[in-house]
Amino acid sequence: PAISPSDLETLHVLGHGNGGTVYKVRHRGTSDIHALKVVRCSGSDASARRGARREVEALRRAASSPNVVRCHGSFEEPCGDIAILLEYMDLGTLELVLRNYGPFGEPDLADVARQVLNGLDQLHSRKIIHRDIKPSNLLVNSKMEVKIADFGASKIMCRTLEACDSYVGTCAYMSPERFDPDSNGGSYNGYAGDVWGLGLTLLELYLGYFPFLDPGQRPNWASLACAICLGEMPSLPEQASGEFRSFVECCLQKESGKRWTVLQLLTHPFVCKDPISGA
Ligand code: ATP
Ligand code: MG
Repeated sequence: PAISPSDLETLHVLGHGNGGTVYKVRHRGTSDIHALKVVRCSGSDASARRGARREVEALRRAASSPNVVRCHGSFEEPCGDIAILLEYMDLGTLELVLRNYGPFGEPDLADVARQVLNGLDQLHSRKIIHRDIKPSNLLVNSKMEVKIADFGASKIMCRTLEACDSYVGTCAYMSPERFDPDSNGGSYNGYAGDVWGLGLTLLELYLGYFPFLDPGQRPNWASLACAICLGEMPSLPEQASGEFRSFVECCLQKESGKRWTVLQLLTHPFVCKDPISGA
């Protein structure tokens, strides 16, 4: 049966984002715990409303993936805000896990990579580009499931090679072709941007800090664009395995055409070393 807002008791705030606030809520009837994302679009904020509707539509289309956060429904509140009821992920984001437990080892990273690739495979095969893959948009639960969340910047492609419009998402995790679309002949294959975001995420979880900035350095557009488009690939310490190194390089090819696709990456030895558990 459909859930209505009056069935939900608000417990506390889970997080704030650009678009609004996410609350932990309990269903009064079943006692089930959920997350409720409230996107503020009161008044005449048509673009916030469009964004929230696109988020619901993307979540609905990708619903069958175990690595995409589940959406239980959405409602428009009387004030105009849109509330999206989501599966609750009890360990929070990978950013929080990094902050609380420190850098990840390679076996954990391989597990994260495999799960995010599975989620992205589902999205890309349904013509959805996430456009904001980063540690704070990847959620974890105590079953160690990793799920892609926050579709506020996503794009549903109508034509296969439609050019993607520019600056949505978080600029730190934007791929070089999004800073400089002309570098790819004026348009780009947006799917490759999600692969860039995954590569950067794995690198950050391994190193413990955002790779294109010195630890503690505050990001600004110019220094980021410069580091990402012109700088060297951030280097990995000696002890990193050849497989991890290679996987990250495949994700962080500056030319989007040389970057591996999600399907190619799913066959990379870093994520499918063990053919039995990798099945
Ligand atoms: P931003 O634009 O800043 O990335 P946002 O407004 O689009 O954020 P989300 O990223 O969806 O919102 O959520 C904001 C925060 O709320 C997350 O970083 C996370 O800490 C928490 N959160 C969101 N969804 C869930 C969930 N399903 N379970 C647990 N925590 C969640
Ligand atoms: Mg977010």
